[in-house]
Amino acid sequence: MGFIELNVLNNAASNVALGIDLGTTNSLGARWKDGRPIVLHPEGGSGYVPSALHFGEQGGVIVGREARELALLDPAHTLFSIKRFMGRGLKDVESDARSVPCPLSETQNGVVQFEMRGRKFTPQELSALILMKVRDQACKALGGIEVTKVVITVPAYFDDSQRQATRDAARIAGLDVLRIVNEPTAASLAYGLDQRKQGKVAVYDLGGGTFDVSILSIEEGVFQVLSTNGDTHLGGDDFDRTLVEVAKKELAAVMRPSALEDRAFLQLLRLAAERCKIELSTDPEAYMHVSLPESGVQWRRKFTRHEFDALTAHLIERTLHSCRRALADAKLPPEQIDEVVLVGGSTRVPAVRARVEKLFGRKPHCELNPDEVVALGAAVQAHVLMGGTREVLLMDVTPLSLGIETMGGAVAKIIQRNSTIPCQATEGFTTYVDGQNGIDFHVVQGERELAADCRSLGRFKLKGIPALPAGMPRIAVRFHIDANGMLTVTAKEESTGTSARIEIQPMNGLSDGEVETMLNSAYRNAREDFDARRAADLRTEIGTMARATERGLSQAGPALDRETRRDVEEALAAAKKAAADTQLDAGALQKRRDELERATLPLAALLMDHVAKAALSGKRLDEV
Ligand code: AMP
Repeated sequence: MGFIELNVLNNAASNVALGIDLGTTNSLGARWKDGRPIVLHPEGGSGYVPSALHFGEQGGVIVGREARELALLDPAHTLFSIKRFMGRGLKDVESDARSVPCPLSETQNGVVQFEMRGRKFTPQELSALILMKVRDQACKALGGIEVTKVVITVPAYFDDSQRQATRDAARIAGLDVLRIVNEPTAASLAYGLDQRKQGKVAVYDLGGGTFDVSILSIEEGVFQVLSTNGDTHLGGDDFDRTLVEVAKKELAAVMRPSALEDRAFLQLLRLAAERCKIELSTDPEAYMHVSLPESGVQWRRKFTRHEFDALTAHLIERTLHSCRRALADAKLPPEQIDEVVLVGGSTRVPAVRARVEKLFGRKPHCELNPDEVVALGAAVQAHVLMGGTREVLLMDVTPLSLGIETMGGAVAKIIQRNSTIPCQATEGFTTYVDGQNGIDFHVVQGERELAADCRSLGRFKLKGIPALPAGMPRIAVRFHIDANGMLTVTAKEESTGTSARIEIQPMNGLSDGEVETMLNSAYRNAREDFDARRAADLRTEIGTMARATERGLSQAGPALDRETRRDVEEALAAAKKAAADTQLDAGALQKRRDELERATLPLAALLMDHVAKAALSGKRLDEV
């Protein structure tokens, strides 16, 4: 009897794949059922798993709603917003680290670790616990069916490391990731916008602690991210804080300053502020209460929506500023946006809706629950990937260019920024010095022309290159970004087939602010970068020419007349001196390079003559 039941359940399990929105504040699972996506919640529950963790004295970790409640009693052992730390190193999270109640350290691979009750946890491990909780809730809602296949959403600006960290979290949780999907793409799928023949969509996502806006295009059901913008530290929490500040000012009259800064008290204030804010989304006025019977504090204050709107106007303006920048990056005026989608709990604030509508000149989609829309879209994608019928092709883009450092410190960009993924590109490289049997590859990310100004993603070595003259070996370097945004770089020496590769390790991540800073600095430094790049390339070229000239002189030099030989030697010395002078600009280097080329023309002619004769007499070139 037991067996039969188990078999039936297992069969059912193979058809169910979950869509999971792994959020900064809350996480949620959804699935496809009867022709549409639905959120999975156990009976009597909402299905939301607050992305909070509480670490008990006995070593147990509590995840979700209970952990969020325990934060009130024991904030020192409760963690929130783990998503901000995914795929990042200590120095990337300095500002976020301040709100963490425990010490942080770093693993050998440069991954942040939280030290709680004598144990260390990476963000991947903690996110795995949240994913397991979402999975368990979903399984309960499905009547005990085991689910392992999932689609997980991430912000569009997540870089390779952050996506890899998300995949690692899923692996630790025992989940099989069908795909990592961008949150705005998922939200558009939930609204069925893929059914449009073509159009442009703005997805405005204001959650608890983060704001993102993405501009997408749809062509024949194919989504492309045209641009993203946002602020990783702007969200509903800031709206709450405006009320908390008012409360603190007024309570200062009746409470000691130290009591006002008490962590547990502040948490209480925050919750009271959030309750008041939520009421103001439906009512024109609401009360914020704080009651501390043991200290005799009873505080109650009426806020009108009008007052709340004035307190938060600057926050909304910041989001609109990001929207304008995203539009500018996508080279679209607001009138060309066909659909606007609202995501995130904070888009329930009436002033947010009104001002977004005004900016884009159209009513935004808010028919679906803004807290569920990303999970619902992930479920649509999971359904499609499991062979479901809705035909959608998802395409996302790389936010920054990816390339290899070349000789002289320049960057050969192999995959350009905004390339649609999955994608791949191969470029040929060769050796710089004779007999070179290995090459160090340095993979970098960014728009600047010199590797030193880009972000280093990793290094690897290709060994076993046959000892040949410089420039002879042919090495193909292939960059491949899979549908989840994972980057694999492979270098292969073509005659021997020797190869080496690197998969970019989950190391330090990048915030959207940093991506923007990188783009801005590339724009600001474009002229200087262009010159520096030209100078670097010229130094490399002069080096190659100088070695060829020296070789030529030793082979055919005696046949040159004295005058010509002196010209070559002088031009060679001047060019080498110029290449070694780091102060020289591209113009001066170009002059020396051209002079060397001119001076060596008779030598080149002589060498060609030797080569031709050698070929005719059947000698090998190296015998000439
Ligand atoms: P999310 O990260 O998308 O789950 O959004 C959570 C944020 O939405 C929190 O800051 C909540 O306080 C906020 N929120 C949820 N419901 C409402 C509401 N009805 N009005 C205003 N803010 C809300």
